[in-house]
Amino acid sequence: MAIDPHNYTKAVHAGVKIDPTHGAIAPVIVTSTTYRQSAPAEHQGYDYSRADNPTREQLESALAELEGGDYGLAFSSGLAAEHAIMGLFRPGDTIVVCDDVYGGTRRLFSKIWEDYGLNYHFCDLTDQEVIKQTLTQLKPKAIWIETPTNPTLRIVDLTLVASLAKEHHAMVIVDNTFATPMLQQPLALGADIVVHSSTKYLGGHTDVIGGAIITSDPQLYDKLKFLQYAAGSIPSPFDCYLLLRSLSTLALRMNQHCINAEKVASYLSSHPQVSKVIFPGLSSHPQHKLAKRQMHGFSGMVSFYLQGSREYLTRFCQSTKLFILAESLGSTKSLINHPASMTHASVSPKQRKQLGITDSLLRLSVGIEDSADLIDDLRQALKASLST
Ligand code: PLP
Repeated sequence: MAIDPHNYTKAVHAGVKIDPTHGAIAPVIVTSTTYRQSAPAEHQGYDYSRADNPTREQLESALAELEGGDYGLAFSSGLAAEHAIMGLFRPGDTIVVCDDVYGGTRRLFSKIWEDYGLNYHFCDLTDQEVIKQTLTQLKPKAIWIETPTNPTLRIVDLTLVASLAKEHHAMVIVDNTFATPMLQQPLALGADIVVHSSTKYLGGHTDVIGGAIITSDPQLYDKLKFLQYAAGSIPSPFDCYLLLRSLSTLALRMNQHCINAEKVASYLSSHPQVSKVIFPGLSSHPQHKLAKRQMHGFSGMVSFYLQGSREYLTRFCQSTKLFILAESLGSTKSLINHPASMTHASVSPKQRKQLGITDSLLRLSVGIEDSADLIDDLRQALKASLST
């Protein structure tokens, strides 16, 4: 399991153009909202920055190149990108969604778009029979996949779902936030659209909120580009610059996240206070073989169930020194999250129970620090949590 060596080179160079005016090799931040025209409607390709901006364009071509797609689009957040994708559908359309999606995605679909007549069917996309039945019975316009899922890290077989979806003329949309193009390239496996919260691993430094869409379908691109322009949820040139800067270390960071997460998962697996560890790299993971086949590394997310009461869990979360108790993931810094009360609080208690998001579940976003320091931190926090 290793990142394709060419991706280290791609990550450094993707999208970045040497500035023709000064020869600057760092991306130039173009803050101008408007551009001089030599005659009415005659310009150098830019008329207004909501439509096109040179810094954003560099980011968009970098994203496309890294995902192996033809077109990239950058948005002001992951949810803004998802919101734009929903603009492709019409009242009455059905979208099948993997049941373990990010809580905010579920909220966007059920609390906003359902009121505009879109139908969502949440189901377990790791079950082949469920996929086949759903496609036949519901005739969905699209299938929305997250893999690995959040927070229970289930793996959906992208090649299989894409081939079944094609037979039923359903579009396949994959949220690749957890894996990044360094570890998984959904377009090559049959997806039509890839979407990201670039707030996470792509940004990687907890200092920029962003979203992205990548596709190789020119018609989908034209529609999505129109939705980006017409609704206007674009990122600022500075945010685009920050993301471009982050992308150059994406391969290095992902490699370190993967190494550290494997060590942390294996440490926790043998700890008596931990009842279960979920990590696609463990042979105990139900889709371990699929993850090995589909991904070039298992990413940096580790979920686990702590034994004991809620008080004990709270003490544990308050005792870690390197793992910071905070929402989000994919940072250089290690983070710890309690999905039931934090990222997935908007999911109903009944649904959380069905998905295994119990009060004793914790999700780690393992950072790029030294793995021994991280394990020492978990060890001391597990010990500290026992003291009253
Ligand atoms: N997709 C996934 C998998 C996420 O984890 C998140 C946020 O946590 C989003 C989408 C939404 O992204 P953003 O917070 O950038 O709007």
